[in-house]
Amino acid sequence: MTTVTASANFTELGLIPPLLARLNELEYQQPTPIQEQVISSVLEGRDLIAGANTGSGKTAAFSLPLLQYLYENKSTKSNEGVKGNYVSGLILVPTRELAKQVADSIKSYAVHFNGAVKTVAVFGGVSVNTQMLALRGGTDILVATPGRLLDLISSNAIKLDKVKMLVLDEADRMLSLGFTDEIAEILDLLPSAKQTLLFSATFPEEVTTLTQKLLNNPVEAQLQSADASTVVQRVFTVNKGEKTAVLVHLIQQYQWRQVLIFVNSKNGCNHLADKLAKRDIVAEVFHGDKAQGARNRVLDSFKAGEVDVLIATDIAARGLDIEKLPVVINFDLPRSPADYMHRIGRSGRAGEVGLALSLIDHEDYHHFKVIEKKNKVQLERESVEGFEPNAVVTAALDKPMAKPEGTGKKKRKKKPTDNELK
Ligand code: AMP
Repeated sequence: MTTVTASANFTELGLIPPLLARLNELEYQQPTPIQEQVISSVLEGRDLIAGANTGSGKTAAFSLPLLQYLYENKSTKSNEGVKGNYVSGLILVPTRELAKQVADSIKSYAVHFNGAVKTVAVFGGVSVNTQMLALRGGTDILVATPGRLLDLISSNAIKLDKVKMLVLDEADRMLSLGFTDEIAEILDLLPSAKQTLLFSATFPEEVTTLTQKLLNNPVEAQLQSADASTVVQRVFTVNKGEKTAVLVHLIQQYQWRQVLIFVNSKNGCNHLADKLAKRDIVAEVFHGDKAQGARNRVLDSFKAGEVDVLIATDIAARGLDIEKLPVVINFDLPRSPADYMHRIGRSGRAGEVGLALSLIDHEDYHHFKVIEKKNKVQLERESVEGFEPNAVVTAALDKPMAKPEGTGKKKRKKKPTDNELK
């Protein structure tokens, strides 16, 4: 993300004093580009479609005007009669981690509202009872994953007929995680008169269709530059079987702290952590086999800098707010080019330059080319001193994509199932 020069400040965007005071305390000196484009339009009541990755400051971009709207309208006549299990601002997010994180950010932005705006997060994987209790008497803002929200609606813990503003955060991710039907069901329960904001890192057809159905003459923000522009991307060619050795070498050479390493399977994460442990590098794993409590603990210690290396599957790729993450490494390449962007978006957070490094052997080579092509980047192939690719690899890299020989089909690597990936 580029830093804005000669930009509007938060006051000029129309934010009210209690929010401005908080931004000052948080040392947000100026709006990020997405905030600059979004905040005043949302305050004016416009629908919005925004291209924004994690790290762009998108959470504040939608949370600040939503908070302001609710704060200013809470005590007015328009809200009279709103009681019980109401919700005014609904934010749909793809993962439980993101739900927690967005709700925490909102609560933090609202500290000077003295409790005037209530925020609750609901997500699966934990007991529903606590969430039902928290929803008693309704809530001003609800941050929810789609499945758990529907559960709570069916048990009458919440109703959506009073929603004034809907935010779809990481819409592409929600749809790619298979929430299409749930979202359709939720949309049917919402009143038609409402303001809708849609944030997405990428715009596949499914998202565009949803956008056309949902948004009314929307303002378009940053649709062309939803990339991780403060992330330096590098790619190292390594010999087959040497990725771990190269990784150890790099971690030791650069003394990186807070490295996020992506591996495509849960077993792969565990194996890599074991191998690193043998080389005296302490790493934690973060994947779907860990219970929610354990995941939270791992994340907290990583955020606090107590653990330098976190090895994760793609569930960690999106939405986690780990500030100033300096290095993200693709030990395994992600399956899709969009996931590559999501992963590298974990580094180079607001105003910081991050490094996104991919390790590829000759079997990854063509897949990486596809990733580059789709994401419109072309990176120089580098090698690590002492681990230069051997002649066999270099020859393979120079060859055009090999066609399967003879009549027999080339055996393809089995795609991991979603469950294996989590
Ligand atoms: P997000 O893209 O919403 O996940 O935000 C990325 C990170 O940037 C979070 O840690 C925010 O606290 C931080 N952030 C958001 N807006 C600003 C800003 N205007 N100035 C400095 N940091 C910000």
